[in-house]
Amino acid sequence: YFYGQSPDVSPSPNMTGSGTWKDSHTKALALVGKMTLEEKLSLTAGAPSRTGCSGFIPAIKRLNFTGMCLSDAGNGLRNTDFVSSWPSGLHVGASWNKKLARDRGSGMAGEFRTKGVNVLLGPVVGPAGRVVSGGRNWEGFSVDPYLAGSLVAETVSAIQGAGVITSTKHFIANEQETNRMPINDVQSLSSNIDDRTMHELYLWPFQDAVRAGTGNIMCSYQRINNSYGCANSKTLNGLLKTELGFQGFVVSDWGAQHAGVATALAGMDMTMPGEGLWGSQLSTAVSNGSVPETRIDDMVTRIIASWYQMGQDQEAFPSPGVGMPQDLTKPHKIVDARNSTFRQTLLDGAIEGHVLVKNVNKSLPLKKPKLLSLFGYSAKNPDLNNPGGFISPWTFGVSSFNYTEFQDSFIFNSASTPSSRENQSPIAINGTIYSGGGSGATSQSLIISPFDAIVQQAYEDGTALFWDFVAPAPDVNPMSDACLVFGNAFATEGLDRPSLRDDYTDGLIKHVAERCNNTIVVLHNAGIRLVDQFIEHVNVTAVIFAHLPGEMSGKALVELLYGRENFSGKLPYTVAMNENDYGDLLGPDFGRGGGRFEKFPQSNFSEGVWVDYRHFDERGIEPRFEFGFGLSFTTFGYSSLVVEKSGNGTFGEFPTGNIVEGGQEDLWDVLVTVRAEVENKGDVDGMEVVQVYVGLPSSSSGGSEANSESQKTPVQQLRGFEKPSVKAGETASVEFELTRRDLSVWDIEAQAWRLDKGKYVVGVGNSSRKLPLSGEFTI
Ligand code: BGC
Repeated sequence: YFYGQSPDVSPSPNMTGSGTWKDSHTKALALVGKMTLEEKLSLTAGAPSRTGCSGFIPAIKRLNFTGMCLSDAGNGLRNTDFVSSWPSGLHVGASWNKKLARDRGSGMAGEFRTKGVNVLLGPVVGPAGRVVSGGRNWEGFSVDPYLAGSLVAETVSAIQGAGVITSTKHFIANEQETNRMPINDVQSLSSNIDDRTMHELYLWPFQDAVRAGTGNIMCSYQRINNSYGCANSKTLNGLLKTELGFQGFVVSDWGAQHAGVATALAGMDMTMPGEGLWGSQLSTAVSNGSVPETRIDDMVTRIIASWYQMGQDQEAFPSPGVGMPQDLTKPHKIVDARNSTFRQTLLDGAIEGHVLVKNVNKSLPLKKPKLLSLFGYSAKNPDLNNPGGFISPWTFGVSSFNYTEFQDSFIFNSASTPSSRENQSPIAINGTIYSGGGSGATSQSLIISPFDAIVQQAYEDGTALFWDFVAPAPDVNPMSDACLVFGNAFATEGLDRPSLRDDYTDGLIKHVAERCNNTIVVLHNAGIRLVDQFIEHVNVTAVIFAHLPGEMSGKALVELLYGRENFSGKLPYTVAMNENDYGDLLGPDFGRGGGRFEKFPQSNFSEGVWVDYRHFDERGIEPRFEFGFGLSFTTFGYSSLVVEKSGNGTFGEFPTGNIVEGGQEDLWDVLVTVRAEVENKGDVDGMEVVQVYVGLPSSSSGGSEANSESQKTPVQQLRGFEKPSVKAGETASVEFELTRRDLSVWDIEAQAWRLDKGKYVVGVGNSSRKLPLSGEFTI
């Protein structure tokens, strides 16, 4: 076996206090200097608490250290009451709106803070979304590293700006749920990645999060090049703490620690949820010299420095877990964390992640219809809303979930039988979904379902409603002005999705379309959902990917359906025509359980950087809907492209700057500026996502023949986006700054980002395949 392939990088680098961390570092050193070994060790492992926090670090009263509550997750606070369900990561990705990502971060963080949560266990940029049917892709923003990186940076700085530490996760290459955990003598899956792919794809958004100052990183369950995520000195000591200059602390994913001494030496700083293999054993390891006490000091310095860095030592920071009762079924003090200031952010966030992909015959917006017919199990609220997050099989325990008992709550593929459903994710949930399942599920205080909001609107308009949310082949009133069909595509932590579509929902849509010549399809999708079974049906006049909007779901949808808001979301992934178009990445490795029988299951990332649109572009595969695509009620024209070498940087081959948080500082020097104008040519206002794609000299578009196949880069990669709001008939100017990193490739020999000489091609437009403006520059 290949155990040990991942090179050792040691010793573990100490926190340096670089950049903005200087004061916190100094204060932390002083406090840690006063601690006994026992006190230090108490900071490095989770302890039981009388709270509902996912993890808890006890206080050291003598030193005025308050302790810490760590809780899930990146889409809102889970497992409690009086909080909001925010749009999920994928929905934020579909909105392509940096400002909105920032506002959501602030709003979310306020709730965590009020509840006394010190560490928000999110945001997610791993999984990146390599495996198309991955169970947790919806927790992250996008499979494109640039889009994910831009949005995670905004999210991290907003959350931490409100005083809550982010735990950017899961570090790294945690791309599938299948075999993520060891079972008996079968080890976790090993994600085997080459160095260039690691940097250009998987590390990229983590780099943005570190640069934004994330105080914490969560190491992942699976192995990377055969070494466990939390014992991998190459990824933790090497990539994270040396190359990216990370100043915060590393926490294990819950139960992801599989070695005691090795995790300490590899750079892990805190184990969760309990003592794991540390506690008294780490104490022994220190006394027998296996782990130097200086390593313990650094663990604790990093933890305490993050606590100071976010101002959590201040009296104003609520006591850890104060609003997180352990047992919500017992009477408890109400801590209402919701803040009405952010109502609009919840609504805007929900609105902007909707992506309109078909709209013919002026189907939308609706204009006071006389009769609307509504179909589909997914239009109404589920029967249960409890703070554990009902929509998650998690609530019942993922592996022992009894689908037979709860089968009315789920939609399965028709071929599946109750016994084949064991350990299988349901395809859809019987009831609208507004987040996915698992530890990233939300605990909404209320949900406005599509049906709730449509009833309200119909009442205002005097519209008559017919509905059938039960029959797979319902009667359709022939007098309907429009028929709305609601379906969903569910995904949850712990299980990869069984497929990207299901017969039940597609059958329902086709049934209605056969009987209603204005059929509007709304799919709430926790990941890529294929539509080829019905997309070309003449009676399917509009299709919306509604993603996971959070609790304002129905209200947002109605604003869009009736045209009071315009669609502005774009796909943060590629929708294929056929499953097979995704090639080997359609499903997880060992999806049928084969990994259970291998002692060291291997997942080779042999596709390299060729995922999603990079794959479709390279292979010349026509997608159904390309990355970056989405319709609006208006149209936009593009003009006046300017591509200019500029800014503050030099054009040398390699960066020369010092390592600050995020890596060498001159990686962020602006080398090229791109400007364009976008005109709203229709008669309604709208927002447009202007996208910039760049082909490097090493891509085929750069025309360089010198490069071997292994050094070839994608013909185009997203390297900029802005989302101006443009009034009907008006024109907006947009500007993009391309940094040294944006234009570089990772050089495995030099172990540095290399800026090549040659021709760079720039495309500007509103999807990866609609780039009306093109230009170039030479370095
Ligand atoms: C998940 C993490 C989560 C943790 C704590 C783990 O199973 O992978 O994302 O933060 O549980 O609930």
